[in-house]
Amino acid sequence: MRDFFHEDQLVAVLTTQPLDRLLDYRAPEGGCFLGAFVEVPLGPRKVLGVVWGAGKGDFDRAKIRPITRVLDAPPMREEMQDFLTRAGAYTLTPMTQMLRLATRAPGLGDPPSMRRIYRLGQGVPDRMTEARARVLEVLRDYGGLAFTLGELAEMAGVSSSVIKGLVKQGAVAEEDSPRDLPFAPLDPDYGGKALTPAQAEGAERLRAGVQSGRYGTTLLRGVTGSGKTEVYLEAVAECLRKGRQALVLLPEIALTQEFVARVEARFGARPAEWHSGVTMTERRRTWKMVATGGAQLVVGARSALFLPYRDLGLIVVDEEHDTSYKQEEGVLYNARDMAVLRASICGARVVLASATPSLESWANAEAGKYEKLVLGDRFGDSVLPDMRAIDMRAEKLPGDRWVSPTLQAAVQARVDAGEQALLFINRRGYAPITLCRACGHQVGCDHCDARMVEHRFLKRLVCHQCGETRPMPEKCPACDAEDRLAPVGPGVERLSEEAQALFPDARIATLSSDMFGSARALKEQIAAIAAGEADIIIGTQLVAKGHNFPLLTLVGVIDADLGLQGSDLRAAERTFQLMRQVAGRAGRAEKRGVAMLQTFQPEHPVIRAILAGDEEGFWRAEAAERQQAGVPPYGRMAGVVISSPDAQVAFDIGTQLARADGPLRQIGAQVFGPAPAPIARIRGRHRVRLLVKAGKGVALQGAMRAWVGQLRLPAQARLAVDIDPQSF
Ligand code: ADP
Ligand code: ZN
Repeated sequence: MRDFFHEDQLVAVLTTQPLDRLLDYRAPEGGCFLGAFVEVPLGPRKVLGVVWGAGKGDFDRAKIRPITRVLDAPPMREEMQDFLTRAGAYTLTPMTQMLRLATRAPGLGDPPSMRRIYRLGQGVPDRMTEARARVLEVLRDYGGLAFTLGELAEMAGVSSSVIKGLVKQGAVAEEDSPRDLPFAPLDPDYGGKALTPAQAEGAERLRAGVQSGRYGTTLLRGVTGSGKTEVYLEAVAECLRKGRQALVLLPEIALTQEFVARVEARFGARPAEWHSGVTMTERRRTWKMVATGGAQLVVGARSALFLPYRDLGLIVVDEEHDTSYKQEEGVLYNARDMAVLRASICGARVVLASATPSLESWANAEAGKYEKLVLGDRFGDSVLPDMRAIDMRAEKLPGDRWVSPTLQAAVQARVDAGEQALLFINRRGYAPITLCRACGHQVGCDHCDARMVEHRFLKRLVCHQCGETRPMPEKCPACDAEDRLAPVGPGVERLSEEAQALFPDARIATLSSDMFGSARALKEQIAAIAAGEADIIIGTQLVAKGHNFPLLTLVGVIDADLGLQGSDLRAAERTFQLMRQVAGRAGRAEKRGVAMLQTFQPEHPVIRAILAGDEEGFWRAEAAERQQAGVPPYGRMAGVVISSPDAQVAFDIGTQLARADGPLRQIGAQVFGPAPAPIARIRGRHRVRLLVKAGKGVALQGAMRAWVGQLRLPAQARLAVDIDPQSF
């Protein structure tokens, strides 16, 4: 039985306010449970909090105020308190900030009154106005989801009377809130496929893990198309049979729709979704259903880890190597690592699925910390693409063209055969550099240490670091020369232009994130491509992630060397993963695909490993290098980023911190820097970084806290700790 506090008993409450301690309150009339979500007075305001434990009472008792009210939500489970505490300790994040991650459900504090909600109706309005059309468009856009009156009015940009008018005519349906309706039940035995022997064996091992009801992590490796998803859906099925909840994390919202459709085909109903594209009303319902167990399966982004599961039995992290699992703003956490932590607390299984695992996960599997599961061949007759290099030193190509004659001929052959070809370039926009031909000036961002990138599609210059945009200037900002600004280098839009010139008769589809106003438009484009409505696909990283294009038989990588530049120790790993991922798009159906990599350094060890398809060899070599350098996963690292509007101030603080390294020396750790951070200036703030390198088994967090805690920051300066930074 959960701890209960009777009226007037002292309780300690954790709030989402930036305070560094728990606050004492008196339990309200009727008492409250440990973990209850409550509203408490703080100064003149009322704030959200959670009853975290018994109060200390080391304060004048008469002055302690009572909790204002207990909110209509299931209390936070002790297991969740434990998870937040340990995740906060690991990432050195204050608890108040951790709590905010767990209370992202808007309207959590609503009184339990019935609300009216609105969805698409059957009727047709007698007269269509622009405002009415917008309302119906929003409802159609969100396919079947319901909104409250206020939400719908805001999203459509209309007054609520417009919506009421549509309700009268039956074009919009008004209903009572479905907040407490469960999701349609999933049937674990609904639509299972006949698995190949290798898949069946894999599924059996995952099922056994789920049956054990104990924590454990499995690294599920297998090339794209080998059936990893089919196999882990069997683990989900087993979890559902046991009556426990399952969570599948995807790295990219664009992948959700395809995945939800697969879940529906497999289990006969849709899962709950949790990502930035989900409406407020739906979130409210989902949050509650997850807490009561009414949602059996959640598909979502990394923030879905912080939902209040009643009994979580399985977490799948699909494409576990994907860098978007690392949250880079606010609380800096890696969802893959937090999934393992959460599972170990609640006795759940973890499946990390990838064709190209992160070196961390590979090493954990090698060391026996994770179970290894490898799926061999692709499903059906298809095999891995044939990998070839195009040595760009031997190709005759004018300076402003990027598709080599060899690649051009290969693409043309596919188009002629009625197949699809993909040209991949990992750069958004038209050209990475805008250069003045008169004075040599390169247009840069005013706020960041970055070049402005021309986006012809948007007709603007865009800073990829801070998002700042401005119209394309007519004159050079440095020398005022007119009409002398020229694009230098290729971006996806420019490549698209080149392809149109090279293949005038082909249907060309360009996929880049900023060319789509909505997730829905992107989804439609992807579906159209999969259905064969394009001959040539031009794409950025967006296409590398898991979409199924059955007609695609050729992948051409425009610049395979791009990721190998720079001094980042993870560059090789990233390039290896990305190239294999992209190449894996080719030949998913019955036809063997070809991947061609344009490179100026075909003898580079990473390029050679990619071409040879030698995964184990690549990882071994990479692991040896990391071991030598004493960096993750064979050592520990942490970053500290200090930012200030004044570069000198940031450097001075950094230098001061580097000198005060006593607490770090005690654990044998070294400090490097201060040096300009990987993003040296962003939104007008200068950033310097210190890197800390320590041995594998040391108490890094404690030392970091002591080290950083000595510092008194001047008003304008900020400091952020990043445990396990992505780049080092
Ligand atoms: P991965 O997740 O490894 O990329 P998927 O599970 O998506 O692989 O499988 C690739 C394609 O092959 C999918 O369209 C999937 O439905 C199909 N497939 C895989 N295994 C089977 C099977 N045993 N029976 C029928 N179709 C399968
Ligand atoms: Zn900028």
